[in-house]
Amino acid sequence: MSARVVIAHLYPDDMNIYGDVGNVIALRRRLEWRGIDVEVRSVEVGSPFDFAGVDIVFGGGGQDSGQQVVAEDLLARGDDLRSLAAGGTPMLVVCGTYQLFGSSVVTADSAALDGIGIFGARTVAGASRLVGNIVVDSPFGRLVGFENHSGQTILDPGQDALGTVTSGFGNDRASQREGARTGNVIGTYLHGPVLPKNPHLTDHLLRVALERRCGPTELAPIPDDLERRAADSAAARPR
Ligand code: GLN
Repeated sequence: MSARVVIAHLYPDDMNIYGDVGNVIALRRRLEWRGIDVEVRSVEVGSPFDFAGVDIVFGGGGQDSGQQVVAEDLLARGDDLRSLAAGGTPMLVVCGTYQLFGSSVVTADSAALDGIGIFGARTVAGASRLVGNIVVDSPFGRLVGFENHSGQTILDPGQDALGTVTSGFGNDRASQREGARTGNVIGTYLHGPVLPKNPHLTDHLLRVALERRCGPTELAPIPDDLERRAADSAAARPR
């Protein structure tokens, strides 16, 4: 296949905690191992960016302060991102960026931020942080990761979650719902980073991107025994 996949990385400087850049590395490496070219383009606050030709969008987690740095810039790109989402472009947004893909965020110091509303979801910081290993049952299979957030996210009626928490917290303390999913856009609280730990989710994003570009796509298998064993061990570990 002579495809070239273009990944837009939202705010790598301000939204990159707990190794979330590893998600971009996982996307890149699993394409390169299959002989597919990759280009990663960074979206930076205040810099023009043309989303035309972008196949996958990724945005990582960040501190409340990072969210405050990027929120206004993200709002200015809201029309572009909403139209890519409506057109089926696969996206993965983690924690702080996930929250900003909802409709609103109130941070721990009571700053109110508007989100771009791709998800029907509101986030308000709680009194204590939700921290620890997390296991989620999702339509893509079991997902393992690590969460660390004060924001608690409530999904609007009708908004799909990414999955159901079997161990850990997820969106909030009570609902056992984790993340959100709208079309091909996935939001999640899972760090880890999530994609190296869950290669089946990585391949799902890649398959959607390649099929949109080239039609039906069979991804060459990659031996993931180590990842599977690591995920089994994470899922078996008490929190
Ligand atoms: N600052 C946000 C919170 O604590 C996001 C944290 C994160 O991205 N890990 O809710």
